[in-house]
Amino acid sequence: MNEHYDPGQRRLPSQDFLSEPARSIPIRYRPDVLVVGGGPAGIAAATAAARSGASVLICERNGYLGGALTMVTLGSICGLYAVSPEHITPVVRGIGAEIAERLHTYGGTSGPMRWLETASLPYDPNSFKLVADDLTAESGVELAFHCSAVAVTREDARVTGVIFEGVDGRWACMASSIIDCTGDGTVAALAGAGFEHDVPNGQAPTTMFRFGGVDVERARQISRPELHACLERAVASGLSLPRTAGGAFSNQPHSMHLNITRILRDGVPPNTLDTRELSAAEVEGRRQLRAYLQAFREFVPGYEGCFIADIGASIGVRESRRVMGDYRLTLDDVLHEGRFEDAIACSAWPVEEHGAGRGTRWVFLAPGTYYQIPLRTMLPEGIEGLLVAGRCASASHDAHASMRVAGVCFAMGEAAGVVAAQAASSGTSVRNVDFASVRADLLRRGAFLGEDRLTQPV
Ligand SMILES: Cc1cc2nc3c(=O)[nH]c(=O)nc-3n(C[C@H](O)[C@H](O)[C@H](O)COP(=O)(O)OP(=O)(O)OC[C@H]3O[C@@H](n4cnc5c(N)ncnc54)[C@H](O)[C@@H]3O)c2cc1C
Repeated sequence: MNEHYDPGQRRLPSQDFLSEPARSIPIRYRPDVLVVGGGPAGIAAATAAARSGASVLICERNGYLGGALTMVTLGSICGLYAVSPEHITPVVRGIGAEIAERLHTYGGTSGPMRWLETASLPYDPNSFKLVADDLTAESGVELAFHCSAVAVTREDARVTGVIFEGVDGRWACMASSIIDCTGDGTVAALAGAGFEHDVPNGQAPTTMFRFGGVDVERARQISRPELHACLERAVASGLSLPRTAGGAFSNQPHSMHLNITRILRDGVPPNTLDTRELSAAEVEGRRQLRAYLQAFREFVPGYEGCFIADIGASIGVRESRRVMGDYRLTLDDVLHEGRFEDAIACSAWPVEEHGAGRGTRWVFLAPGTYYQIPLRTMLPEGIEGLLVAGRCASASHDAHASMRVAGVCFAMGEAAGVVAAQAASSGTSVRNVDFASVRADLLRRGAFLGEDRLTQPV
């Protein structure tokens, strides 16, 4: 399904529409680079652009940065490493590596950690908020919190500004280069970019939570297959659990973070771009949590005295709009070491697909290998002045199931920031920047853009 942004249109008969009166609004900001959305992609994009000397504003609807890493809370940061039996090798470096180091200084990580056939970096969401504040403040990024992008201004094919609704009403930001890091591709959709949003065949969302009162030593002795068997026994006893395989990470004493709920509506994922369906999904996630609390207490060793310590502030949306770019990353690229002349990032994360069943589909890359991501996946087809970075970049459903993870979003964001800053300083559109100069700049910053052999084990 390839649809345009039409909030409400499918639900209300036309007589239920009203016309808003036209009004004048203030232009509050005129930065070189505007970043919309402060998740992993947005933080890296804003920091990289500011370090290039651009004036940068980042607009975020929450009161903190981090996106899914802080508002959903994830178990670990994925996509940073290529993994073989001998080595865990970083394939996301640059700002991604810097974030990992800074998390260590706050005691906010203890990784990397191997699991399944891969490895990731467990992290503490609260420490991540501080790291994100530090990074952006030190690089001179201006922050605008509690504001949502609701409209864009365009001159022909070029997006020239974004209109926001904030605590102080409606205002505009005009910028030379704009980066959509909203995860949902909201700015691109508002600008008229094409996108894919295949709701029934998309990934299911998850409400994340953390149990306290866990005997972590004992809980850690349970393998994934054993946890699966325990939860299948809970299902056999009559408990309604949509998922019996999931991730459990502990980064604090007595505490375990669980990625285990699965939100479906009539057997398929809900449309998270529909207010009613999104609201029902939030409630359903918390309903499931009650069942998991009982299941873990009764059926999983180490969790006998557990309680709910924390619930993500928002449901976790894995997949919504995938914007159509000049290039659309494919499953073949992901599984067969895709190589591109305009590579701006690398990833070795497996295809991780959370569909409608009780399990999760994993397809691992060959040990020690990785694929490249081309700049063209971040350039929305037919639109000028705009990049899309992070999980809304251009990829097929299967390829997206690999490239969407936070570590890879850091790398895409950093590249988008460099491109946007170079475009602003040279007075050109992001599509026309000199790629050799972008590549040289990224390498100078320590980014990994792909080598024949991986030579830098952790
Ligand atoms: C349940 C779940 C579990 C996951 N587990 C992991 C994991 O363990 N490890 C991992 O690495 N990845 C994991 N992922 C994937 C990862 O979280 C995301 O793909 C990644 O965070 C995407 O980064 P992003 O910057 O593109 O977008 P996001 O993290 O979604 O950030 C987008 C930001 O934009 C803001 N925003 C959105 N719309 C607007 C607007 N209109 N105006 C202003 N601001 C706006 C949002 O508030 C948010 O802060 C998981 C995802 C989910 C949903």
